[in-house]
Amino acid sequence: MAREEINSMTEDEIRRDFTAQGWPAFRARQVYQWLHRGAEDFERMTDQSKVIRQLLAQKYYISVASIEKKLVSQYDNTMKYLFRFADGEMVESVLMQYHHGYTICISTQVGCKMGCTFCATGQSGFSRNLTPAEMLAQIQAAQRDSGQRISNIVLMGMGEPLDNYENVLRFLELVSSEHGLNIGMRHISLSTCGVVDKIYDLADRRLQLTLSVSLHAPNDGIRSQTMPVNRRWGVDELLKACRYYSEQTHRRISFEYAMISGVNDSDACARELAGKLRGTLSHINLIPVNQVTGTGYHSASVERQRAFIRILEKSGLTATVRRTLGSDINASCGQLRRRRQEEVTGL
Ligand code: SAH
Ligand code: SF4
Repeated sequence: MAREEINSMTEDEIRRDFTAQGWPAFRARQVYQWLHRGAEDFERMTDQSKVIRQLLAQKYYISVASIEKKLVSQYDNTMKYLFRFADGEMVESVLMQYHHGYTICISTQVGCKMGCTFCATGQSGFSRNLTPAEMLAQIQAAQRDSGQRISNIVLMGMGEPLDNYENVLRFLELVSSEHGLNIGMRHISLSTCGVVDKIYDLADRRLQLTLSVSLHAPNDGIRSQTMPVNRRWGVDELLKACRYYSEQTHRRISFEYAMISGVNDSDACARELAGKLRGTLSHINLIPVNQVTGTGYHSASVERQRAFIRILEKSGLTATVRRTLGSDINASCGQLRRRRQEEVTGL
């Protein structure tokens, strides 16, 4: 019989499973707590009898993330990890220190299907979805390695979280559970390229999650060129879904806008964006686009960024240029894995 991934199961599911096998129900909480404190092996669960530990290992397995590579920024201690899973697939996570504590940016898929033209992850294609346990394992491994307690999570690493929706929802349930890491939804952000049907579904669940939307263009002409998802759901349809999200949750939407020189950084773009976002509970994060080999894109100049912000602010919107942490190691997410693939395959 195939073993089950126990660290993707809820405490209730583990309890039901244990009870069905005639094991004491109270063991479920103990085992759940071990798993969420980062136990990578049933042998570590020293309050369980040897027989139970053996039975657990026969019926279940624990997914772990092992550190393949780690880069530490010399400027601000930001840490970038390349993690490897049991089947050899790899993803990136970034641990950042802010004044309010440690935030981790985790991946939700190995690669991505969405094919945004500026993105290193999008360029290396899609391999597979991560399980809820593999999302948790990134946090646990970073916590263990750094010795720091992580208080905030952003789903902004490799992959499109709303394209791995069921697993992401389950991850959210596990990571916020009382006997798990207990990180509340208000401390979690989810970034999407704009999978509109799932934004509606998420809105109806009324989780207190921060939704971050990668907009990157004010109109379909530009957006469809750089983000293929826009050919399915255009800018107006996406913004309508965003307004629904903030009506349902009373949460401000964070719009990401990577400024690419000569593509989306003109005054006209700023004015059009301001017009589109008027009346939406929003904050705009301008990001200088990270240079990705082969894209031919360059970041907009600082003067352009300032001019862009002035226009948005004049229209009553709030916007900031995102502080870049770990700029010396911040080859944009996806690049570390791509480089490793190139080393291995000799490409
Ligand atoms: N798939 C999700 C989350 C992962 S991408 C999404 O697209 O939102 C995380 C963020 O990095 C997104 O805002 C994405 O648009 C941005 N990004 C990707 N490549 C980038 C680059 N080269 N420079 C700056 N931001 C980039
Ligand atoms: Fe995928 Fe996000 Fe990269 Fe687009 S920006 S390819 S959605 S990871």
